[in-house]
Amino acid sequence: MITSDEPKSRSITGVMMNYLHICPTELWYFAHDINMSFDSDIVALGRLVNEEYYVRDAKEIPVFENVRIDRITPDGYVHEVKKSDRAEEAHLWQLKYYLWMLKRHGLGDIQGVLEFPKQRKRVPVKLTAEDEKQIEHKLQQIRDIIQQPLPPKPKKIPYCRKCSYRELCWC
Ligand code: SF4
Repeated sequence: MITSDEPKSRSITGVMMNYLHICPTELWYFAHDINMSFDSDIVALGRLVNEEYYVRDAKEIPVFENVRIDRITPDGYVHEVKKSDRAEEAHLWQLKYYLWMLKRHGLGDIQGVLEFPKQRKRVPVKLTAEDEKQIEHKLQQIRDIIQQPLPPKPKKIPYCRKCSYRELCWC
């Protein structure tokens, strides 16, 4: 059985916001530094997508401790690059969380673009007042999950097949 002390970092990252929408168990593992992502072929593919399409651009610009942005273009748009649109809702909220953080730090109403190079798809993203309320609520949900002493019981979902934590959950 996996147990852990309090998560080492109390900062909520964009990846945590993303995982909230995919799987609370994954969120808990990640927040507790149980990170198997480097072994994952899927993550490696994600890196390749970034490198292949945006090799000349600055990648993962650290803006704040918990905000690492893929690209900011000269027109001021924040770009988040993903290998697949399968979890588009999760990616959308990750980017909205970045926009929310930037706004809270006084950078105004910056807009974003979700990019899926493999699908040749770009989704413009804007932060609304309703989104801002929802983000406050989601942040509390994240805190509630990661402060649990044990990971939430896993539930089988299609995403499990490619999840780097599948051996922890299902073996
Ligand atoms: S294998 Fe499935 S249940 Fe386990 S962390 Fe991954 S997505 Fe969640």
